[in-house]
Amino acid sequence: MLNIGCHLSSSKGFRHMGKEALSIDANTFQFFTRNPRGSKAKAIDENDVKELIHIMEENHFAPVLAHAPYTLNPCSADARTKEFALEVLIDDLVRMEHLPGNLYNFHPGSHVSQGTETGIQLIADALNFILTKSQTTTVLLETMSGKGSEIGGSFEELRQIIEKVTLDEKVGICLDTCHVHDAGYDIVNDLDGVLNEFDRIIGLDKLKAIHLNDSKNPISSRKDRHEKIGEGVLGLETMVNIINHPGLRGLPFYLETPNEVPGYAQEIKLLRGLFR
Ligand code: FE
Ligand code: FE
Ligand code: ZN
Repeated sequence: MLNIGCHLSSSKGFRHMGKEALSIDANTFQFFTRNPRGSKAKAIDENDVKELIHIMEENHFAPVLAHAPYTLNPCSADARTKEFALEVLIDDLVRMEHLPGNLYNFHPGSHVSQGTETGIQLIADALNFILTKSQTTTVLLETMSGKGSEIGGSFEELRQIIEKVTLDEKVGICLDTCHVHDAGYDIVNDLDGVLNEFDRIIGLDKLKAIHLNDSKNPISSRKDRHEKIGEGVLGLETMVNIINHPGLRGLPFYLETPNEVPGYAQEIKLLRGLFR
């Protein structure tokens, strides 16, 4: 069974996302915890969440993936920006416990001019500040394309963050196929080699989710522009290799391609048909 879904709008609530996922033959989905630019989150409607949990159980959903606002920067040089990132992360993790046992993804951040080492330390500090022993949510660091001063464009950087985290069993990785390719990992010609490298540096046991996206730009471009499945430089064959890879096929896959819901429905149908 291929566990696949796409990014959905959370504006109509949790139950609506569950129903929308079902309507496009998805058995998981991703959503923003709040406006992607990071405004205040709506209060949790307990009945609405319960209805989603019911839908997920009845239909054997894979874990759903909540995505933090992408403007968060826990390794900013600005004290207020850092503090805001911590406030949002803590608030989101409290909210996630209404939907126990799922995944929460964030972009590690940009060190601006402070240097990679400082950036890595600040992200680890943030995780050590927000993670709790009792939480049931696994917090994922997303692999990034490495544009600007972004942290997380290499497996080494992600490992260095995790190494500094005390509750490292609460931390995992979300691998974005567009981002790793843009960062220079050749998943088109050497998927096995890239995954061996991931395993050697981070450990495949830490890989909890895949953002399945094609890319508009060539390898090592450090651009981060997603393309529809099969229409970019990764191509359909690479996507098919990824979903069927023995080390990946059991993971949940989330599409973040430039689509509205009907386009996602087509991609899910296509990929389900190519899952062996
Ligand atoms: Fe992301
Ligand atoms: Fe992504
Ligand atoms: Zn991206």
